[in-house]
Amino acid sequence: MKVIHTRNALQEALRVYRGRGETVGFVPTMGALHAGHLALVKACREQAAHTVVSIFVNPVQFNDPQDFALYPRTLDDDLKLLDAYQTDLVFVPEVHEVYPEGTNELETYDLGSLETVLEGKFRPGHFQGVARVMRRLLEMIQPDVLVMGEKDYQQCLIVQQLLQIMHASVRFYMHPTVREADGLAMSSRNRRLLPDDRKKATLIYESLMYIRSHWRYMPFARLEAVVREQLQATGFVVDYVAIARSVDLQILQAPEDTEMRALIAATIQGVRLIDNMQINP
Ligand code: AMP
Repeated sequence: MKVIHTRNALQEALRVYRGRGETVGFVPTMGALHAGHLALVKACREQAAHTVVSIFVNPVQFNDPQDFALYPRTLDDDLKLLDAYQTDLVFVPEVHEVYPEGTNELETYDLGSLETVLEGKFRPGHFQGVARVMRRLLEMIQPDVLVMGEKDYQQCLIVQQLLQIMHASVRFYMHPTVREADGLAMSSRNRRLLPDDRKKATLIYESLMYIRSHWRYMPFARLEAVVREQLQATGFVVDYVAIARSVDLQILQAPEDTEMRALIAATIQGVRLIDNMQINP
């Protein structure tokens, strides 16, 4: 496994693969790796001859400076895990390698209504930051396959839109959410949960399951209110509990004959958690 820090070294390593006509898969991450990330790496390895993983805590996508400062960084452990998963290249750039022009005046993308609902509404600027870093990483790596996680479903839609804007012919694979034994979606932020809050955090998963088994029998507004109240009673500050169309995340007030998805974002003791689940077969 090669650990690479610069654009130039990355180009050099990729040129070797390209010269042999071998495919490249890419898994972008912010590090603090867990079994969810590693499942993506494994899936990537099955779909391309070479796997590139990036570890970059992208300052441009954090709307909350405190969240950026507290984001877990565990590079030594991450590299050991990636080595054990037979990663070919790990790209660990400094900020100026990704943004040689600086991070002050960056381009803006037309991300449509995806930018103003759910995560977009509660984290202003976040998805512009995601699009900016992803465009740069995709241009540098030019992967054949891009692997991202359903846990960040809205992010997957944003990146799919970016691929269209870029006219990039990358195969996009969305990996199902990897969960702990009690259902909590794995997340780098889970490390910041105190033991008591870690136990409570499983309520987010249980709430999604509750919505999945009750949406046929309760008006959506009532269902969302019940779930919201229960989360609040347990100590969460709730950003949203919503049911939306999977294809474009249009918020729904009543069932539709399309794929529907429940999505929740809530904070416990300063740790913000998100999760989502398809609710109809
Ligand atoms: P992050 O390091 O949080 O930016 O995540 C890097 C990639 O891993 C993103 O595509 C995430 O959606 C994905 N990911 C994070 N947690 C999980 C999980 N529990 N299951 C599946 N994919 C995940």
